[in-house]
Amino acid sequence: MKKNTKDLKSPRNPESKLARHIVTLPKSGIRDFFELVNTMDDVISLGIGEPDFVTPWTIREGSIYSLERGHTSYTSNLGLPSLRKAICEYVAENYKADYDPAHECIVTVGVSEALDLAVRAITNPGDEIIYNEPCYVSYYSEIRMAHGVPVPVPTYEKNNFALDPADLEKAVTPKTKAILLNFPCNPTGATLDMEQLEAIADIARRHDLLVLSDLIYSELTYSGHILPAISSLPGMKERTVFLHGFSKAFAMTGFRIGYACGPFEIIDTMMKIHQYSMLCAPITAQEAAEEALRNGKRDMESMRREYMNRRNVIVKGFNRMGLSCFMPEGAFYAFPNITSTGLSSTEFAKRLLMEQRVAVVPGNAFGKSGEGYVRCSYATSMEKIREALKRIDAFLKSLKKS
Ligand code: PLP
Repeated sequence: MKKNTKDLKSPRNPESKLARHIVTLPKSGIRDFFELVNTMDDVISLGIGEPDFVTPWTIREGSIYSLERGHTSYTSNLGLPSLRKAICEYVAENYKADYDPAHECIVTVGVSEALDLAVRAITNPGDEIIYNEPCYVSYYSEIRMAHGVPVPVPTYEKNNFALDPADLEKAVTPKTKAILLNFPCNPTGATLDMEQLEAIADIARRHDLLVLSDLIYSELTYSGHILPAISSLPGMKERTVFLHGFSKAFAMTGFRIGYACGPFEIIDTMMKIHQYSMLCAPITAQEAAEEALRNGKRDMESMRREYMNRRNVIVKGFNRMGLSCFMPEGAFYAFPNITSTGLSSTEFAKRLLMEQRVAVVPGNAFGKSGEGYVRCSYATSMEKIREALKRIDAFLKSLKKS
């Protein structure tokens, strides 16, 4: 029988064929904005959340060598054993947390996939997941896609955007399943100290909660020392999933390699989803990642120092022109407070783009508590940062005149 294509399209209700929980998800607030940016000339973009450095040569060479040797096959679902071993050694050395590469580590397609697997592996419909906000744009939707309930806990400039343990504890209910942490934080650049980490661990233990810890920016910490993983604290290893990857500190966004370390039952459950959806991460990129761990640390350190110099210039620049800006201790974002202009984040970002050709991301793209701020990435050259600062200063002066 001939199919009635009109019926398939359901003109009266085109969404009836689609999954309701996906249809009702908002699109990323910054997409339309950056589509507009792409059509404009002479724009300085402080909007990009990825390193402006090309992946260090030794790592690129690692991927070329992998291809030269004809390594073009699938790998084990969990990832190359040699890479998992290198990852676990790296995690033990830098984060004081011990994992067994055979059973407690999985290599994924970016930390994005690791996060997705972790959330899907632990969430039953209606389970609540608490996270610090303003936060990475994916968290809310990731949780919703797993039929969970996102519970943002606002963080504040007056507390250096750290997660206040008292606020966190107030958000815990009988339905809370996990706390999702991201420090250093995108978009605020905030970090935690040991005392705050211990307080969060204490809440997780007392309420029997899991912790998903997204450490994608952790090497980009400007105090110079990386905080031990929350899983290294007493009673935490069995309830923590350590999420990390190579995109930011090794400038490897396009390689798409991340990983998760955690208790066997959780990693094994994540593996099932990974096995049926992704199968494995690409072998060329896995071998490049192994090279990054072996020989990429010097390059990583020089990028970190350059980000720190840029951070100092951009934050000083904002404060000098009268926009109060918290000094971020990690990641590569400044988050100036723009409330003194009387504009909303979106108005500020739109007018700055149209009037001075500088692209920044409105803070409300990172959750309600980001309103009143804009995110400015300093993963761009010092020259562009200085020019952007001049243009922003001119924009502020024009606002005062009008
Ligand atoms: N987590 C945070 C906090 C991020 O900012 C990003 C990217 O911007 C990711 C995860 C995704 O990283 P990946 O490239 O490893 O998927």
